[in-house]
Amino acid sequence: MPGVFARVKSAGLDRFGFHVAVEDVQEPAPGFALITLAGEGLTKNVWHPGDCVKLRTHDDHLRSYTPFDWDESAGRIRLLRGGRAIGPGTHFLSTLSIGAQVQLLGPKKSVDLNFERAPIIVGDETALGLCGAWAGSHPESPATVLLEATDVDGCRAAAHAVDVNPNSVVSTRDDLIARLIELVRASADAPLVLSGCAQTIAALRAAVKSAELNDGRVIRVKAYWDENRAGLD
Ligand SMILES: Cc1cc2nc3c(=O)[nH]c(=O)nc-3n(C[C@H](O)[C@H](O)[C@H](O)COP(=O)(O)OP(=O)(O)OC[C@H]3O[C@@H](n4cnc5c(N)ncnc54)[C@H](O)[C@@H]3O)c2cc1C
Repeated sequence: MPGVFARVKSAGLDRFGFHVAVEDVQEPAPGFALITLAGEGLTKNVWHPGDCVKLRTHDDHLRSYTPFDWDESAGRIRLLRGGRAIGPGTHFLSTLSIGAQVQLLGPKKSVDLNFERAPIIVGDETALGLCGAWAGSHPESPATVLLEATDVDGCRAAAHAVDVNPNSVVSTRDDLIARLIELVRASADAPLVLSGCAQTIAALRAAVKSAELNDGRVIRVKAYWDENRAGLD
């Protein structure tokens, strides 16, 4: 039987958010899950591209995901899970099948994608939802997308499922840094969005700074996961 703390936490969580149903689950590439959720609560919220939602797992953890599509009139969102996490969020999403009920909290502000020109978006498999959110809301103005992924071909296949055609997918942090420096040099005013792994973001920021490429450019940063922590907000 769960302890007192777990029962109080569970009862507290019951009071937040709303329930949606799993409408579809796809695997666009091994290790990726494309999930469609539908429910009336999704018609009552204003979503901005880049906002995230939190899903409650069976064991009362909350894990964040970034819808790449939010149809308010139909009450439907789609999100893409990727990456090599091994915690409750990944397990929970892997158990979902059509018709399952999911408690959802949000949307919540996360990455502000309100730019006057297309940004450079840098990240990893977890950033594909964010890239898809820009692509869906700015079909005439594609972002420059640079990703690090363990499975380069799988990541490209998953990207296509959210209508993103990445400019580069590399397999090491060093390659990601080198490619970013080239891109930043070549596009003087493009805003820069750094997302994904906290440690990679820190390395990218340091590289941009040491190459003296900060130059007043808008830089927005959001860590989606951390090598030393679980369940970032
Ligand atoms: C605002 C926000 C938006 C996000 N949007 C998305 C999204 O759209 N799609 C998506 O896939 N993810 C997204 N994430 C990341 C996602 O929430 C985490 O990957 C997820 O929390 C992992 O949950 P977990 O319970 O499986 O692992 P956790 O319990 O969080 O972590 C368990 C272990 O796995 C490691 N880990 C966590 N994530 C990864 C990873 N990606 N690769 C390798 N190791 C990892 C941790 O360091 C830890 O050691 C987002 C995160 C935030 C904060």
